[in-house]
Amino acid sequence: MTAADPIDLRHLGDERVIGSYLLETDDGPAIFDCGPASAIDALKAGLAARGLGLRDVRHLLLSHIHLDHAGAAGLLVREHPQLQVHVSPIGAPHLVDPTRLERSARRLYGDAFDTLWGELAPVPEENVHVVGDRVLSLDCFPSPGHASHHVCYLHEDGTLYAGDAAGVRIQPARDVLPPTPPPDVDVNAWYATIDEIERRAPARLALVHFGVAEDVNRHLDDLRRRLGAWAELVGRGATETDFTHAALADVEHAEDYDRAMPLWQSYEGLARWAAKRKETAA
Ligand SMILES: [Zn+2]
Repeated sequence: MTAADPIDLRHLGDERVIGSYLLETDDGPAIFDCGPASAIDALKAGLAARGLGLRDVRHLLLSHIHLDHAGAAGLLVREHPQLQVHVSPIGAPHLVDPTRLERSARRLYGDAFDTLWGELAPVPEENVHVVGDRVLSLDCFPSPGHASHHVCYLHEDGTLYAGDAAGVRIQPARDVLPPTPPPDVDVNAWYATIDEIERRAPARLALVHFGVAEDVNRHLDDLRRRLGAWAELVGRGATETDFTHAALADVEHAEDYDRAMPLWQSYEGLARWAAKRKETAA
């Protein structure tokens, strides 16, 4: 089973916003990034279309704990207590006790929280596994930048389950954008992550937003270029309006991207990053 298409979670009814992947491991089928609780029905429908139910899935591999990637984890384990959840060491305590995660997300999303993400349930500690270099039959490595606790998984078939570390590209579109939301985006760490992905030479990139990219080198070059341009823009004090305008100027189908990564969030994250950098320099 190589480079299967994602299960389209049809977030808020829209196609190609959030995708979840079903993959084969040495311990049976696993899901990579389950999406938010608000999209559980679509996840189940996608599994059913592939001849599986949740009870057939033993493992959930998480790239990071942002709600569009991992929000449903607690509900899934409540329904199927055999499900084992793999996550980075920094992410693990927030799955067990999502109180702080929910508080900061509610601050960011306001009244839209419930519609966007649904219930955020805790994952019992005994179901949570902190990742090392190997997770089942996959290589796992830290990939900070978009979030400090982000990890990627490389399957032996060459597929990199990239999460957000390889950016956002709503395929079949070609443009690759760096989602840089608060609170802990780190541009320099992200450059190092892109280098590390290249060093591991994956055959393809499985993007949560959205689809499998086969032109790995061009894809990563495009991500690196935009990350630099955006950081430069915000670093020299662009307003949100100027940033949004400039950031989307050369992007085709920009409206498709905004659903997966609202530009106001990328601006806020970069502005915070730039301010922190100035503080450190002073
Ligand atoms: Zn994220």
